[in-house]
Amino acid sequence: MGSTTLPQPNPVFGGLGTTIFTVMSALALEHKAVNLGQGFPDEDGPLSIREAAARALIDGPNQYAPMPGMPVLRQALARHAKRHYDLDLDWEREICVTSGATEAIADCLMALLGPGDEAILIDPAYDSYRPIVEAVGAKTVGVKLDEKAWGLPLDAIAAAVTSRTKLVMINSPHNPSGRVFSRGELEGLAEILRTRNLLLVCDEVYEHLTFDGVAHIPLITLPGMRERTVRIGSAGKIFSITGWKVGWITGPAALIGTIMKAHQFVTFTTSPALQIGVAHGLDHEQDWYLALPKELQKRRDILIGGLQAAGFRTMPCEGTYFVTADFAPLGINEGDVAFAKRLTAAQGVTSIPLSVFYGADAPQHYIRFAFCKAQATVEEALRRLKAQRIGS
Ligand code: PMP
Ligand code: GLN
Repeated sequence: MGSTTLPQPNPVFGGLGTTIFTVMSALALEHKAVNLGQGFPDEDGPLSIREAAARALIDGPNQYAPMPGMPVLRQALARHAKRHYDLDLDWEREICVTSGATEAIADCLMALLGPGDEAILIDPAYDSYRPIVEAVGAKTVGVKLDEKAWGLPLDAIAAAVTSRTKLVMINSPHNPSGRVFSRGELEGLAEILRTRNLLLVCDEVYEHLTFDGVAHIPLITLPGMRERTVRIGSAGKIFSITGWKVGWITGPAALIGTIMKAHQFVTFTTSPALQIGVAHGLDHEQDWYLALPKELQKRRDILIGGLQAAGFRTMPCEGTYFVTADFAPLGINEGDVAFAKRLTAAQGVTSIPLSVFYGADAPQHYIRFAFCKAQATVEEALRRLKAQRIGS
């Protein structure tokens, strides 16, 4: 008889906790807190998109969509890239539709990295990146955003490149910081990628959510970047339909072809009705998605004003759904996870602690608040923060 102990699972997942978004949303429910933690809007996006998808559910098709995505959506995505970024994409070879950006991230990292490779992540990094890199046997090298104003640390990125580095993964507009990296920062990064001949995975799910006229510049549009860059997008963020999980990857045919080999065995394909709905939205609801940041910007300003009045130091927010706040000025003497949990239980306001997005040496005094909620929800959270003293 062999051992009675079952074989151990992959230590990357065996050793992982539950994602912070699930943890904090459950805690918010338990304490009836206002949930400014997990980033999902209170209001669903355009009715015409939901109607187009609902019609397709009834009328069909209801069988497997083509593995790379439905032509109607890939063609709409090619038009979208041309319209906003003057980017020419071959819709048949340079676009892959996925079940959310989460799948797209996994497909890209699984397809591009192998055992022994190194991937540079910019910390704080969205929480799905690190486990996927590690699960394929590659190593993550975290480089921290400058804490003064969440600036991109170009010198540290250049210094982190080794002979094993294969790719850099970047997210702009950046979750959780709220930064939209400037042309200067992106040109500096592009220079490193060109001179060190590296690949780039760009998570651009918040591409249309920028404020104060700040422009989002896809790195793929910079000189020498077209052949080495893949971009990830999500209908969830463009159209406030985060539950749909329709995403995509665009980039050069050589890279997309390999990434599709991962996609074909991760999900193979995505609901045809939802793809039809998103295609309709890209072609017909441009006014809606271009107006959304103006609405969100108002709520951002209300949130920032209220947080400052409550004694937080707020960090720059140029895009996304999120503002990061430093609670050190409140004289609080506990870590960010403990503080975020206490704020939920004692004040009835839920946020997300930032330290979970770091590989090492995480700062312990930042939390993230989402403002993609109804104005009344944001105001209620601020009323609760003001009503009681926050100190520990
Ligand atoms: N990347 C970032 C930076 C995100 O904030 C999110 C969260 N929505 C995702 C990827 C995942 O997007 P999706 O819901 O389309 O899987
Ligand atoms: N992207 C969302 C956020 O940052 C959450 C996504 C999720 O719950 N997995 O809040």
